[in-house]
Formats: sequence, C-alpha cells, structure tokens
Amino acid sequence: MLLAGPVGTANAASTATITAAAAAAPAAAKPNVVVLATGGTIAGAGASTINSATYTAAKVPVDKLLAGLPELAQVANVRGEQVFQIASESFTNDNLLALAQRVSALSKQADVDGIVVTHGTDTLAETAYFLSLTVHTDKPIAVVGSMRPGTALSADGALNLVNAVSVAASADARGKGVFVTMNDEINTARDVNKDVNIQTGAFKSQWGPLGMVVEGKNYWFRAPAKRHTNQSEFNIDKLTQLPQVDIVYAYGSVQPTGVNALVQSGAKAIIHAGTGNGSVADRMVKPLQDARNQGVIVVRASRVPYGFVLRNAEQPDDKYDWVVAHDMRPEKARILTMLALSKGASTQELQRMFMEY
Ligand code: GLU
Repeated sequence: MLLAGPVGTANAASTATITAAAAAAPAAAKPNVVVLATGGTIAGAGASTINSATYTAAKVPVDKLLAGLPELAQVANVRGEQVFQIASESFTNDNLLALAQRVSALSKQADVDGIVVTHGTDTLAETAYFLSLTVHTDKPIAVVGSMRPGTALSADGALNLVNAVSVAASADARGKGVFVTMNDEINTARDVNKDVNIQTGAFKSQWGPLGMVVEGKNYWFRAPAKRHTNQSEFNIDKLTQLPQVDIVYAYGSVQPTGVNALVQSGAKAIIHAGTGNGSVADRMVKPLQDARNQGVIVVRASRVPYGFVLRNAEQPDDKYDWVVAHDMRPEKARILTMLALSKGASTQELQRMFMEY
C-alpha cells in the first residue's frame, strides 16, 4: 500500500514545503481535484518490501490510496472514484470509451478544477493520448502510475500521485492538454511512452518533457506543439464505439499470415510496425496492397522507437494509397486511426491527422 513507511519518510521534505505553501493560502481557495482510479501498480501490493517487481497490480482501492496520503489535502480538495480495478495490459476499447466519457463529464462540472487518472503503466501512454484527443476541456488532466507497488522500498507511487494532483490543481497547467506526470516530469500525452520496463524513470518523450513538478510547483520549459483537447476534431461526447484497428509487427522472415488473418477478421485498418523507417519486406508489399484494395487502411509505422517515418521514402505511399504514422508508435497510431475512422476519414485526411495530432 502507499502508506508504507519508506514512502512517508522520503516525502517528508516535500510535505513540509507543500504545507508551508498551503498555509499561506485560504482553505476555501483550494482547487477541487477528482482522482479516477483504474488499477495498475500504483494500486499494487507485494509480499515484502524487497518485491519491487514481483507483486499483484490493481489491489488497493482508491479510497485507501488517498487516505494514505494526507499530503494531498494540502494541495487540493481531493475525492476519488474507482472506475476500474485492472492491470492496464488488459485495457480494451470499451475501457477507453468509458473512462474518457467519465473524464469529459467531470470536466464540465463547475466544482471540478482538475482530474487525475491513476493507471497501470503498460498502456498508460495510449490512454493518455486517447484522452488528449477526445476530451474537450481546458482543465488539466494528469495521468499517473508507478513502477513500484506502494509496499516496496523506494516506492514511487506516493510522490507521483501527489505531483499529479498538484499539476491537475494548477492554474498554470490549464489549456496545456493531458499530461503524464511520473518521476517529477510533466510530459505531454502525445509524446510520451513507456520506454523502460523496470525503473522509475520509465516514461520518456522523444521531444523532451514539457517541464517538471517539484514540491508542488510546476516549472514549464516548452508547450505542446500539436492539437489536443479543445482544439481536437474528435469528441468523446459523440463517440459510442471504435472500429477494429490492429497491428502487425515486422521482423526477419516475416510472412503475410498476420496481415491476411487481420483482413479476414474484419480489421478496418492495419498498422504495420515496420523495420527502420517503416520499411516493408518485399513479400509483405503485395498482401498489404491487396488489403488496401479491399478497403483496409494501411498505416506504415516503425518498430524503432525514435525518429519518424518519412512519407514516400521507403515505400511509394502516394502510389499505394498508404498512410505514414509520422513519429507515432504503432500502438498510439492505432488510437489515432480508430478515432479517424470513426469519423469516416479518407487516407488523405488520416495523413493530415498524423501531422496535426
Ligand atoms: N502491467 C501492469 C499494468 O500495466 C502493472 C505495470 C504498472 O502499472 O507499472 O497495469
């Protein structure tokens, strides 16, 4: 649980600062933040303090998480809602829709100033991107997880959650979209990904974080360059379902089995996680062309985490009517493609969206 001793000790210095800052402000001026809990390691528990990586995710209910952090009351009036209690690798499109609908509804309430979503780290970046594309608000939304359960030595969840609430409660975070606040960094949902699977500094943005949150104060260094929230053409309030979009992974000796199976199963788009600059093996070109000719959208992404796929470089995208995912990882390209297809976007429109979002 988050109330484990080492966490409290590590937080002593920041608590003192937050307390001092809060003491200067009248209690009534404190912002209202809702924490929507979905599970993950931040709600995980292990058998002993030494178990930093062996534990059960999604165990601790949100009320217990919040009760273990008296520091939160210094930052904001905080209340929690248990939306799901799952490990994020099991998230489905229905989970995405239900969560975004709840975030959107709360964001319209006058008595809510900011929203925090606690989430397993595995698919956290996908959910954060989905929220940033579909929720129309200028209120701050911070998505947060932890890499270690609260029962472990040097657990990171407590400070991550206090930081998330602090960012969501901040007037200076308004209009900047959806954030992922982990390891003291404030990253924009679009750019950030889980790049390390076992350390607390797991989340990285190829283009750098927006800033940092330290002892209850935000330090901003750049602004999001792409469309999000209020500027988005997607809107969760008008969405009830998402089309089937799947991913095929490229590797040496890859065969068209996966592509053909996905076409057969009714996929509306296939994200090809190609090698290098979204390269496509010679024997995969024809099956992907055939898929496109049958109406399936083909998106060239890359399995290489950094860089971006250049249109018409490795493959003649104009000729084949394919789309490139730009710098989007395959799993986030899937999110944007689902939303685009839910609006009946053409390949030209989808390509524009990959450049704008
Ligand atoms: N795999 C679990 C999840 O994503 C735990 C990982 C984590 O939260 O760090 O929910």
